[in-house]
Amino acid sequence: MPTHAAVISLSTKGRIEPVDITGDVAGAVRESGIADGIVCIATPHTTTAVYVNEPERGLLQDVVEMAGRLTELGVPLQHNRVDRNAQAHLGGILIGNSVTVPVRDGQPRLGTWQSIFFLELDGPRSRRVCVTVIGG
Ligand code: ZN
Repeated sequence: MPTHAAVISLSTKGRIEPVDITGDVAGAVRESGIADGIVCIATPHTTTAVYVNEPERGLLQDVVEMAGRLTELGVPLQHNRVDRNAQAHLGGILIGNSVTVPVRDGQPRLGTWQSIFFLELDGPRSRRVCVTVIGG
């Protein structure tokens, strides 16, 4: 079965920042020449996440707020003894490191209000996102 791999490179500016990568993913799918199948979008970083949801400005602020509070456990975090970013790791674990989206007619098949987001949890940094298209 044909597969196509692409890497999206990006630079984040904030500590916690959602980045809309829908256009980049659609470009990778187009480039693959695959008409029908699936596209997997995965982050190789341990302090980031990937999710699908609405690109509404207020919701993006809510995501930043949620991600900042999601891992307020009220106990000292052990990883902060060595790296001071335990909350970013925990956010990555809870939100998830990949999503899979159907591909139909050479495009990611998203709902009307859906976009694909890379979520920085420990920025600013240079990051990569791995896109794999599988299908025919
Ligand atoms: Zn760490």
